[in-house]
Amino acid sequence: MVVQEVRHQEEAARWAKAVSLAKQGQWTRWDSVEKRKISWKDLWAMEARRLSFSIRATYDVLPTPVNLHQWYGEDPDCALCSMPANLRHILTGCKTSLTQGRYTWRHNQVLKNLASALEDKRAATNSLPPPAASHPLRTTFVREGAKPLERDQLRLARDWKMLADIGRQLVFPPEIATTTLRPDMVLWSHSLKKVFIIELTVPWEDSVDEAYERKHLRYADLAAEARHHGWNTEVRPVEVGCRGFVATSTTRLLRDLGIKGQSQRSAIKAVSEAAEGSSQWLWMKRKDPSWAPK
Ligand SMILES: [Zn+2]
Repeated sequence: MVVQEVRHQEEAARWAKAVSLAKQGQWTRWDSVEKRKISWKDLWAMEARRLSFSIRATYDVLPTPVNLHQWYGEDPDCALCSMPANLRHILTGCKTSLTQGRYTWRHNQVLKNLASALEDKRAATNSLPPPAASHPLRTTFVREGAKPLERDQLRLARDWKMLADIGRQLVFPPEIATTTLRPDMVLWSHSLKKVFIIELTVPWEDSVDEAYERKHLRYADLAAEARHHGWNTEVRPVEVGCRGFVATSTTRLLRDLGIKGQSQRSAIKAVSEAAEGSSQWLWMKRKDPSWAPK
């Protein structure tokens, strides 16, 4: 059992190193994602297994086949598809996982949380007094030289509608454009002729920018058609990294829709935990050829 003991010691050393990096606040190693603040209170509150996954996933020291190959010469291949399996492969790159719907399931877990934050804001905005009555002089009294008052875009109307591609398939509102594309969310106001086309990706953290560009491109034609019909159209790709790091594009959208302060923090926490928790489940199921969502 000497081999086992050496392994335990090495494992402990890798773990200690990752924890020390995390303690130094080096949680964010990627551009385009928000810094992640984990307080001691959070650390204590986090379930041990969850925390262990979170830290080891961030620093890529989980016992993936590729890591086990490097450390101990074991078989580096994926149990599902026989490709070399590093963490990126397991969490975002496995064809078998993709075909079995594992990534779609995680995507929808995150989407539910994001959609719920937007839906709360939409409903709250629609129930406000009419915009003209609520702040009749709002823009009139901006002191000279002062910045114009910040104004979230939702507040300008009370007839916001929203569709999310959850549960049943989203059909893009034909009044805006005709398309078979199904973005994750559509938020629109007829009175303003304003539409947000929102598309969520849950990528590997290094690929956040790439995902943003790809999704922007995918909806370019649809946006052009909507604009042609007179709609002020914004295509808003948003990303939540599969290890729970929330992209700046996501916080920007929340802010632009007026989701700020505590409600922004709750929304970010919810989507981050949904991504990370689902990834942990995918990790636990990495050797399991059959797939059942949690
Ligand atoms: Zn695979």
